[in-house]
Amino acid sequence: MSDSLLARHKAVMPDWLSLYYQEPIEIVSGSGRHVTDADGNTYLDFFAGILTNAIGYDIDEISDAIRRRVDTGVLHTSTLYLIRQQVELAERIAELSGLRDPKVFFTNSGTEANETALMLATQKRRSNQVLALRNSYHGRAFATLAVTGNRGWSATSLSPVKVSYVHGGYRYRSPFSGLSDADYIAACVDDLREVIETTTAGDVACMIAEPIQGVGGFATPPDGLLGAFAEVLDEYGILLISDEVQTGWGRTGEHFWGIQAHGVTPDAMTFAKGLGNGLAIGGVVAESALMDDIGANSISTFGGNPVSTGGAHAALEYLLAHDLQGNAAKLGSQLLQGLRAHDSALIGDVRGKGLMIGVELVVPGGKTPAPEAAARVMELAKQRGLLIGKGGLHGNVLRLAPPMTLTETEAAHALQVLTETVSQAEQELF
Ligand code: PLP
Repeated sequence: MSDSLLARHKAVMPDWLSLYYQEPIEIVSGSGRHVTDADGNTYLDFFAGILTNAIGYDIDEISDAIRRRVDTGVLHTSTLYLIRQQVELAERIAELSGLRDPKVFFTNSGTEANETALMLATQKRRSNQVLALRNSYHGRAFATLAVTGNRGWSATSLSPVKVSYVHGGYRYRSPFSGLSDADYIAACVDDLREVIETTTAGDVACMIAEPIQGVGGFATPPDGLLGAFAEVLDEYGILLISDEVQTGWGRTGEHFWGIQAHGVTPDAMTFAKGLGNGLAIGGVVAESALMDDIGANSISTFGGNPVSTGGAHAALEYLLAHDLQGNAAKLGSQLLQGLRAHDSALIGDVRGKGLMIGVELVVPGGKTPAPEAAARVMELAKQRGLLIGKGGLHGNVLRLAPPMTLTETEAAHALQVLTETVSQAEQELF
């Protein structure tokens, strides 16, 4: 990237707007799973934006849908008028949701989707008490920041909701990490019950949870944990919101929605990222009893606009027609196996499902987080033409989430680059 663009970025954009890499790149074009930067370097994209480009780049069906709208001469006016694309996409998402009598509300981002779901639940239960998981990330507005249980992303302590955090999402560093799946779930359920009984005012509105924690380093709890939580929540009349912003659309391989691995149907699901394959779109799908229980007008001027919903609908149909969920399951398990088989003392944990894989790097010989190693692997991989993500509570987790159209050859190549760069970083740093 040209220095001048970085300098101009720093001059007018806030310091807290994080950029990847010491020399950040400007992506100017893309095709398939590859992107090219302004200096002409091409990379295999193993993070798909932040799981935004679920399908990949330069997809005719999506471009055509957007172009058709552009050709009308009206990109959007407002959601005060009927929008055919919005209704059609809502019908499809309602059908895919598995919820009873579902209704859909569109937003422009995951943050707004979660704000909406929290608004619905707190209004329905007339309580501002919310449960969330430690190590969670749900967005950057007031309520979503409040339910974010990760110091690195909690930019304000002012909060319109009262939040109590429970254990469960991040098993590797949980006090219950050494236990079997069943005992781990039982310990987390006990913790949940104790938190409800001893730290809340008793009238909790909802729990919000990511089935796999995205920003938290693709932390993957045992299957069934949220289902076991739901049994307790039901006893207390507490609603369950599944934040599917990262885990939706088949990304986890075995299921279309991440929550399905937990054997429970939530009261609401929120979504964004992968749906639009790069377009700004998010939303909530919830049972009508919850969705319609608002006693005031509420609108998103741009949420559900015809460009985003038309393009997203084309992306969704593509994803379903090409069974990208099946591809994510197949290639994800090959990658997981390959990474688990790699012998490096830097690797503390390899986890995830489908094409959502986290590799937690530690100081060899223990569990001390090694964020400098993660930064080094990212840089080395970039030098070899592979873009990956980084995250986790301590910034020491490599995050792998390529477009779900990934091929076997690309997966094998990425695996080789990853294992070699992890070994190189280990040699250099320890
Ligand atoms: N929820 C989860 C699980 C996320 O990972 C994110 C973003 O990373 C959000 C919500 C917020 O979405 P957005 O950045 O589109 O506002």
